[in-house]
Amino acid sequence: MALSGIQIYKMLPQTNCKECGFPTCLAFAMKLAAKQVELSGCPYVSAESKAQLAESSAPPIRLITLKGIGREVKVGNEVCMYRHEKTFYNKSGLFIRIKSSQSDISTSVVQADSYKVGYVGIDFSIDGFAIEADDPTKFVDAIKAVRAVSKRPLILISKDPTVISSGLTVLSGETPLLVGADATNWEAFADLAKNNKTALAVSADTLDILSSLTDKIKAKGVDDLVLIPGGNNLSESLTKATQIRRLALKNFRSLGFPIMTFPCNSDSPQRESLIAAQSIAKYAGFIVLDKFNPELLYSLLVLRENIYTDPQKPIQVTPGLYEINNPKPESPVLVTTNFSITYFSVANEVEGSGLPARLLVVDADGMSVLTAWAAGKFDAERIAKAVKAFDVESKISTKRIVIPGHVAVLSGELEEELPGWEIRVGPREAVDLPGFMKKAL
Ligand code: SF4
Repeated sequence: MALSGIQIYKMLPQTNCKECGFPTCLAFAMKLAAKQVELSGCPYVSAESKAQLAESSAPPIRLITLKGIGREVKVGNEVCMYRHEKTFYNKSGLFIRIKSSQSDISTSVVQADSYKVGYVGIDFSIDGFAIEADDPTKFVDAIKAVRAVSKRPLILISKDPTVISSGLTVLSGETPLLVGADATNWEAFADLAKNNKTALAVSADTLDILSSLTDKIKAKGVDDLVLIPGGNNLSESLTKATQIRRLALKNFRSLGFPIMTFPCNSDSPQRESLIAAQSIAKYAGFIVLDKFNPELLYSLLVLRENIYTDPQKPIQVTPGLYEINNPKPESPVLVTTNFSITYFSVANEVEGSGLPARLLVVDADGMSVLTAWAAGKFDAERIAKAVKAFDVESKISTKRIVIPGHVAVLSGELEEELPGWEIRVGPREAVDLPGFMKKAL
């Protein structure tokens, strides 16, 4: 049962010592009630209060951590329904299915495991592999073949707990996710998960059955659970996922676990991509894809990055002076903001043109040029400050700087801030920079 801020406040020391980073115990209590801080933020909570508050302060969706060899995937700990209310924290794990009957396991795993692609300065890759025992006699060999190539976390899939058990013998020290428990076999799976300290996924056709199963499995001592609610079509899957998230956020603990989906079981690649995209947007923690398909994977990874980016903190690059195409002292200095997409738009155009330049990235709180200017975060003072902070003058022979065309209005003020510098107004769009540099610089 969730406690109100006032109820929590009564259990805090009430000394207002501020060590938690809040001015009063009441302020901390309110944040704790809203699940925006951890109880550990206050070092002075008594053991008795801690026990009482633990349940109330626990995240509504349990954090599940899968461990491979030196690599892990964390899923869960979400606290809101819509990302703009706060943010989504732990990205859905994207796993590639490997069937034990496959003859090309090594080749498939090498391709998927080595996949790495950049997006606005972030490296994307897959999270792990889901090994399905479609041929139980080859299950252990399949796991060994995957492990010979990849250290990423694993998901083991079989309806037969003895088959899963045989697979666990070659994964000592790891924490895989076991998939296969339902109303018919949950006891054997619960024992297996408890004895091997692994996470366990449980499936059921209705949320009522699912919640009663999780209660029974928890009573057996397994806390790390994952829900497979299924659904016969996109609409039904979405409805179930939404109901689970809503109930979990109301502290209905029986469904307070991450969700798992299987786009891999779709009857066409198009349907697989639709289900995977919906799963990322709407609450899936673990997603199993049919095979390594870089085109699908890249779009899903970009979608995931956008869904899981804090809407109040845009993706940023570090402010600084970036060199492009080995600039010489006489090469131009261009200015932009530290919003990632803005930076990469400009940097990619200049790099693609082959023309050498320095790009001065000004700290504008991660906003794009016009937004930052309108918010007072990208003005002559900030640009001049960056010029000095990054010692631009010592690296160039001509004191000339090019500002984005959208903020031409800043040129006069910048001349005052940077006496002796020539201020040039560049184009409004990054795509026009190469032409401008060739003609005007
Ligand atoms: S650290 Fe604890 S005692 Fe101190 S102000 Fe915060 S909640 Fe109160």
